[in-house]
Amino acid sequence: MPDDLYQRYQAAHRAHQAHIASCPRCSDNPGCPAGQRLYETFARLQDAYLTRLKQRRTR
Ligand SMILES: [Zn+2]
Repeated sequence: MPDDLYQRYQAAHRAHQAHIASCPRCSDNPGCPAGQRLYETFARLQDAYLTRLKQRRTR
């Protein structure tokens, strides 16, 4: 089965990195609401992805 979750996790990571690179308020620390939302999305997807990896391994 294609790893859609991994693709979305990578896309969220790229979106967050791209935002940080172009947003002066987010260059030092997570500053603006848009950047925080992107980070939360990335963190949630990363968490879900890593959780699934762990579940696969322990099975
Ligand atoms: Zn920002």
